[in-house]
Amino acid sequence: PKKPDKQEICHNVKAVVRCRPLSKKEEKMGHQHVVIVDEICGMVTVKKPESPKEPPKNFNFDMVFGPDSKQVDVYNLTARPIIESVLEGYNGTIFAYGQTGTGKTFTMEGMRAVPELRGIIPNSFAHIFGHIAKADGDTRFLVRVSYLEIYNEEVRDLLGKDHTKRLEVREQPGVGVYIKDLSSHVVKNADKMDRIMTRGHKNRSIGATNMNEHSSRSHAIFTITIECSEKGVDKLVRMGKLHLVDLAGSERQSKAGAAGHRLKEATMINLSLSTLGNVISALVDGKSTHVPYRNSKLTRLLQDSLGGNSKTLMFANIGPSDYNYDETISTLRYASRAK
Ligand code: ADP
Ligand code: MG
Repeated sequence: PKKPDKQEICHNVKAVVRCRPLSKKEEKMGHQHVVIVDEICGMVTVKKPESPKEPPKNFNFDMVFGPDSKQVDVYNLTARPIIESVLEGYNGTIFAYGQTGTGKTFTMEGMRAVPELRGIIPNSFAHIFGHIAKADGDTRFLVRVSYLEIYNEEVRDLLGKDHTKRLEVREQPGVGVYIKDLSSHVVKNADKMDRIMTRGHKNRSIGATNMNEHSSRSHAIFTITIECSEKGVDKLVRMGKLHLVDLAGSERQSKAGAAGHRLKEATMINLSLSTLGNVISALVDGKSTHVPYRNSKLTRLLQDSLGGNSKTLMFANIGPSDYNYDETISTLRYASRAK
């Protein structure tokens, strides 16, 4: 395939900011809104709490969503074009970055039971199988999924027979990076897709004392591979791959006082999120001769779907409150590197 030029590369990486509403609890406690989202100009303004003299900080992005944004609009404006290009045979990656509690899961998954609150993942399942149902009779599709978790730089299969087993990451010329023994499952409709994801989800919490705590410290990658062939031609016409990634929380992992297990955890999360940031900024820069994919498991596994002709969408999720000021600024700075 043709090497994309700089313009195409920039076009293929998109950073989008989403600010969640103030929660009932935050309202009750009298927390101040310090984030202003201008959806029309694509600008986010953050005021430093109790510092009237300090000028507010402004950040510009391709697209920004305020506290009243609707799930369906977010899907149509951000993820839809990526799913469409995966159906055409390209690779894509969608991930949500941000501090725990800012809406990563709400954006990626939403609330499945309430149709208007469904997030990107269930909407993309419906989109993919809707497309397949409309295709003419001569076109055949094969949809497969796999679901893995990276915790402390160790990879586990969330859909495997033994999801406690540590899997090996391998590399082979012509094949690229792959995971030995990772299970792959053929899926025929959106409902089955939903069920298989729920099953993997449950496996994430096993062995953890606290599900929320565990999922905020590990990365989960749900991968959908769509193969398309034409009847009679008897060969693969195109294949697209979509990675949907729920990242570990980006909150500063305190190393102070942490020891052993906790210190290792904090070090690994910092390593993988900072490597992801470095990879994305090297891709956007376009001039970098070295993209540091190899520095973390997360970027190694996403390598074939980050850069090149792949489309990457990064959500930067932020909270609106004064007490989140430092983390909000840090998330916006991180996302700014993807522009
Ligand atoms: P994270 O996955 O980043 O830790 P969650 O998605 O669990 O955060 O969100 C934390 C809480 O805020 C949840 O109760 C969620 O329903 C709510 N929330 C997040 N984003 C929004 C939003 N855009 N609109 C309404 N509620 C939201
Ligand atoms: Mg979450």
